[in-house]
Amino acid sequence: MSNYVLAIDASKQPLSPCHPSVARKLLNQGRALVYRKYPFTIIITKTVENPNPEPIQIKLDPGSKTTGIALVQGNKLLWGAELTHRGQGIKASLESRRSLRRSRKNRHTRYRQARFLNRTRHKGWLAPSLQHRVETTWTWVKKLMKFAPIKGIDQELVRFDLQQLENPEISGVEYQQGELAGYEVREYLLNKWERKCAYCGIENVCLQVEHIHPKAKGGSNRVSNLCLACEKCNIKKGTKNIEQFLAKKPDVLKRILSQAKRPLQDATAVNSTRWTLFNRLKETGLPVSTGSGGLTKFNRTRLNLPKTHWLDAACVGQVESLEVLTRKPLLIKATGHGTRQMCRTDKFGFPSRYVPRLKFVKGFQTGDIVRAIVTSGKKIGTYIGRVAVRTTGSFNISLKETLVQGISHKYCSLIHRKDGYLYAT
Ligand SMILES: [Zn+2]
Repeated sequence: MSNYVLAIDASKQPLSPCHPSVARKLLNQGRALVYRKYPFTIIITKTVENPNPEPIQIKLDPGSKTTGIALVQGNKLLWGAELTHRGQGIKASLESRRSLRRSRKNRHTRYRQARFLNRTRHKGWLAPSLQHRVETTWTWVKKLMKFAPIKGIDQELVRFDLQQLENPEISGVEYQQGELAGYEVREYLLNKWERKCAYCGIENVCLQVEHIHPKAKGGSNRVSNLCLACEKCNIKKGTKNIEQFLAKKPDVLKRILSQAKRPLQDATAVNSTRWTLFNRLKETGLPVSTGSGGLTKFNRTRLNLPKTHWLDAACVGQVESLEVLTRKPLLIKATGHGTRQMCRTDKFGFPSRYVPRLKFVKGFQTGDIVRAIVTSGKKIGTYIGRVAVRTTGSFNISLKETLVQGISHKYCSLIHRKDGYLYAT
């Protein structure tokens, strides 16, 4: 089951997404045409009077590397996508630019006046790699609003909801109190203890909630008495007192006891990127509601769904039930729009070759998705992928895993114009 097909009518009003088989029927009968390949959208050849489609909620789970996107109509999950950001790539190319400029300025060039202390950053400035996350997510929300009758946005804003817990450290919310509160507490503890075992510091393992002062000896369920431990340490500690357990490691004991008392600031639950995105999303004019990571996890576990970014997105906010009608999300990878470099450099930073001024070669540009049907030579076959143009007219096409080199432009036909993203399903 793939994603539902997005549809618009002849006057480009968004209609309800339709099942792939319905779309195929409409296309075969000539009542619709393909409007866009990615995301797959059809255009109905007639204008629909008063379409009045059932409203769709767009749900977002912003992540540092991947953002999950889901379109939910009522309780039906119709469309999902995973948007992979290029934060690291941006950082690397800015650093490369910086080092090239630095070495150029040290060479025999014209006098440049010293420039310092004249840079300002506006309020709410984010590093370019983080700003990019906000921008690409925003782009996709705007894009999907054109093709689907989106009437509201749900965003995961915070990791855990402190309002739900009402200041856990002081008022003493009990860990076992209510199932949802348990999820919020777990998220809270994961942040407080930095996703590490408190005793041995191991990361990336299953962590268990641990009572610092053991329950068997009258320890409370209060959050200030809880920490995270790996299975090994948890078993080893058992019902021992912490002073007894860490008798030989006084510095670890001291660190744990002081960290346990320190409440986590509310602000740490929301990172600045998510806030910026939230404020940006409000600009759409649609109602934006938010949920917490604890709630998402609670919903996902209750609905018995696997952990993926797009299903996580579908579980953001208040979810009563969810009918998953698609199993294959659209995989979107941000690739950027090329480079402005006038010439390439060798590894020492010296200019080695020019970059052609024109991006277009024989009507194609790097980043276009093309279909190449090769009819003669060694490379007979059909290839669909992202093209990298060469001035010779002999292109490279990157497929899912391999790269095919030296395909003539004569065999290529355009499927999707370059838009800064790479797609897969
Ligand atoms: Zn451990």
